[in-house]
Amino acid sequence: MSSILNADLHCHSVVSDGTLTPEALAARAHANGVELWALTDHDEIGGQQRALAAARSLGLPYLTGAEISITFAGHTVHIVGLGFDAEDPRMQQGLRQTRGGRGERAREMSASLAAAGIHGAYEGALKYAGNPELISRTHFARYLVEAGICRETNEVFRKYLTEGKPGFVPHRWATLRDAVTWISEAGGVAVIAHPARYGFTPTEEYALFSEFKTHGGRAVEVVTGSHSAAEYVKYAEMAREFGLAASRGSDFHSPDESHTDLGALPFLPGQLTPVWELLADRIQQ
Ligand code: AMP
Ligand code: MN
Ligand code: MN
Ligand code: MN
Repeated sequence: MSSILNADLHCHSVVSDGTLTPEALAARAHANGVELWALTDHDEIGGQQRALAAARSLGLPYLTGAEISITFAGHTVHIVGLGFDAEDPRMQQGLRQTRGGRGERAREMSASLAAAGIHGAYEGALKYAGNPELISRTHFARYLVEAGICRETNEVFRKYLTEGKPGFVPHRWATLRDAVTWISEAGGVAVIAHPARYGFTPTEEYALFSEFKTHGGRAVEVVTGSHSAAEYVKYAEMAREFGLAASRGSDFHSPDESHTDLGALPFLPGQLTPVWELLADRIQQ
């Protein structure tokens, strides 16, 4: 398969912190010309059957997906899994365990916001969570906008919910080794999501890529809604240097909040192995 393919292998539904249903996302991807799609909800595969059924009815080739939260060197990093068996018991158990701490964390976030004078944030955020097991910072951000504390969710993440700001609660997610192992042993490919987002030093980034490879990780997002054009070039070079395949995904969450629509990214740069070449036998259609 060519690298010139409108693949969109990263987006979120109401099953995590997106605002559209899996069916609405499938329709939007199809309408936007997406040729290979994956729904990658945070720490959750509850939307996979619906996404696959909707994709099938549209004739849209589909890969299973999830975006797993991990802690690496004291930072939160995201690992996308593609093409794994959604029925795999170890993967299901690992995701359940990763989701497990979110309720308690949300209560602590709410207490931290209350200490800064913002009350009722837990209840407010929960209203936005389509899946109560998957309450996330995005749902708090939507509530803070609703409450008139910020104008838009991007502003929330500048003033609240991030390290050193009210509402931030450090959290220990899965390990890099576990996430990569769950994905690989379920027949999928592990992908480092949006590497430019972590603010790593070159040394930390090198450690992430090296350890990811050691544990069996095989790809990195090069073209994503979170990267600039210069970052496409940088991570294309790193993919070649580390012998990783390249992925492409909008990270679309919502028509109102996301800058990059489904299927609206540039194609992968040349001289890279597209991740879908590694997954040819895992594509469902
Ligand atoms: P959580 O998994 O609960 O920590 O929430 C992480 C989610 O918050 C991400 O997947 C994004 O959807 C959202 N998020 C994090 N940082 C930002 C940001 N700077 N701007 C907008 N959304 C963000
Ligand atoms: Mn998100
Ligand atoms: Mn992410
Ligand atoms: Mn994402």
